[in-house]
Amino acid sequence: MTAEHSLAPDLLLINGKILTVDAQDRVAHAVAVAGGRILAVGDTREILPLRGRGTEVIDLQGRTLLPGLTDPHLHLADKGTSEMHNLDCRDFYTDVRSISQILDRFAARAAELAEGTWLVAHGSPMQDFRMPEGRFPTRWELDRAAPRHPAAISFGAHITIVNSLGLARAGITRETPDPAGGSIERDPGTGELTGKLRERAQLLVKKVLTPYSHEQLKAGILHEAAKCLERGVTTIHDIVIANRAVRAYQELWQEGRLPLRVSLLIRVIEAEIVPESLLNLGLFTGFGNDWLKLGGIKLSIDGGITGRNAAFSEPYVGEPHNCGLIRIPQEELEDVAGRYHRAGHRLCIHAIGDVAFDMVLRALDRILSAHPRPGHRHRIEHMGNWLCTPERVALMRRHGILPVPNIAYLHFVGDSILACLGPERMRDAFPLKTLLGAGFPLTSGSDAPGYWPVDVLRDIGAAVARRTWMGQTLAPGEALSIRDAIRMYTVNAAYAGFEERIKGSVEPGKLADLAVLAEDPFAVPPEKLKEIPVDLTIVDGRVAYRREEAWR
Ligand SMILES: [Zn+2]
Repeated sequence: MTAEHSLAPDLLLINGKILTVDAQDRVAHAVAVAGGRILAVGDTREILPLRGRGTEVIDLQGRTLLPGLTDPHLHLADKGTSEMHNLDCRDFYTDVRSISQILDRFAARAAELAEGTWLVAHGSPMQDFRMPEGRFPTRWELDRAAPRHPAAISFGAHITIVNSLGLARAGITRETPDPAGGSIERDPGTGELTGKLRERAQLLVKKVLTPYSHEQLKAGILHEAAKCLERGVTTIHDIVIANRAVRAYQELWQEGRLPLRVSLLIRVIEAEIVPESLLNLGLFTGFGNDWLKLGGIKLSIDGGITGRNAAFSEPYVGEPHNCGLIRIPQEELEDVAGRYHRAGHRLCIHAIGDVAFDMVLRALDRILSAHPRPGHRHRIEHMGNWLCTPERVALMRRHGILPVPNIAYLHFVGDSILACLGPERMRDAFPLKTLLGAGFPLTSGSDAPGYWPVDVLRDIGAAVARRTWMGQTLAPGEALSIRDAIRMYTVNAAYAGFEERIKGSVEPGKLADLAVLAEDPFAVPPEKLKEIPVDLTIVDGRVAYRREEAWR
C-alpha cells in the first residue's frame, strides 16, 4: 500500500449542511473520513480533492448532517427482548385506548397460546389516566379475558397487574407480606388481592417467568439497536441489571455484530449483580473500548413517578396517604455509593421525588466532601424534571453533579404527571433553559424502549415545543432553541459519557459517527421534528443504516 493510498479518505460526504456542533456551532458542507475518524471538515471544494482511488463519495444533495446522537439513559438490553415478544397494549404506539380493547387483545392472544402458559403484556406508563375508565384493568377482568392462562400486564416499570392464575403461579396469597420496597395491593374492605403489584413486589412474578435464552437476549439487543440507528442514535448508555446482558453485549462486540457504541451503567442493588461485584474486580468507570465500556454504577432511591411510587414530601393528588416509597435507606445508599465513589466509579443515581432528591444530595455532599475527586461526573437520573429548587441546583453546581432529566416524560406523560403532582409542584417543570443557564452541560435520557421507542429527534422537538402527546404545552418559558436542544444530545451527552474528546461534534480527530437527516431541523416546526426521517447513519466511518428509498 502506498503512502498516498493509506492517506486517502475512506469516505467523503459532500454538498451537505454540516452542523458541526463545535464550540462556535460552525456550519460546513463536506466531511472526509479515514480509519473510522473524521479527517477533515470544510467546503465541498476543499474536501473533494482529498478523494483517492478507494474513496467512496456520498453526495448529500443538501441534506443536513449532525454528529451521531446519544441517548444517555436506556433500558435496552433489559427490555429489548420483551419488546419483541410481549403482547403490546401501549396506547402511544398502538390503537389501544381502553380497558376493553386491552381485554380483547388478551382474549385473542390467549386463544393462540397453549393453556397454562404465561401471557405477558405491556401497556404504557400512566395509561390509567388516559383511558376512559380512568383506571387499570383488574385481576378479575384479566381472569375473564384469559381464564386458563397465568397473565400479567406491566404499565411502565413500576406497576404490574396479574390475574388469579398468575398470582397462584407466583405463590402470592392474601397472607403474603409486602416485600421490602414493594407492595401487594389489597382491597381495603375485604383484604382480597386486587392483582396490582408495585415496585419490588413485581419481582415475585418476574422470578417465576421463564427467562429469555441468551440468543433471544442478543436478538433483542440487535432489534432495538437497529431502531436506534434508524433515528441517528450511535451511542447509548444502557442500564443493565444482570451479568447475562453484559455477556450478550461483549459477545456481540467480539463477534463484530455490535452496531453502535454502548456505555454500560451497571445496576448493583435490586439487580442480579451483587453490590460487591465491580469492587471485587477492581475495574472502574471507563474500562473497555470505544464500542463497549463501563459508564458508571446505577442505583435507585425511590419508586417511579409513573407508578405514583416516587417519594415526595407531600402526598399525591387524590391519594392523601400515598407519598411514594423509598427503595434504598440512607445508610445503604451512602455506604454503597461511597464505596463505589472511592473505587473510581461514576454514580448514576435515580431520584424522582423531592425526598429522594434530598437523600441523594445529602449522600453525595457527604461523600464528595470527605473524599473529593475531580471529574467524577456523578449523575442524578430524573433530577431536572421538577422541584429543582435553587438550593438543590446550587449544591449540584458546587459539587459538579450532573442532573439528567427526561424530556420524553414531558411529551408522553406530562399531562398525567401534572394530574398526580398538581400545578404547584409542576410550576417549574422540566426547567431545561434554567439548568443550561446555570451552567450545567445538560443532557436528557428517554428511559426507552419499554415506555416508548428510542427517538432523540422526537426528544429534541419536545425540548423546543414542550408539547404533550395530548396537546398541552407545559412551561413554555423553559423552551430551548433547536441549537441548544441538539447540543444536549451531542456534545453535552458526550460529556456525560466522559467522551467529549472523541464524540459529540464533527471535528477532525473525532470518531466518525454521523447522522444524515432528510430535512433540516431548523426548517421544520419543532413538533414535527419527530417526523424527520434519518436517511443515513454512519458509525465508525461505515454506513450502519441507510433509508434505501431516500437514495434512489
Ligand atoms: Zn430508567
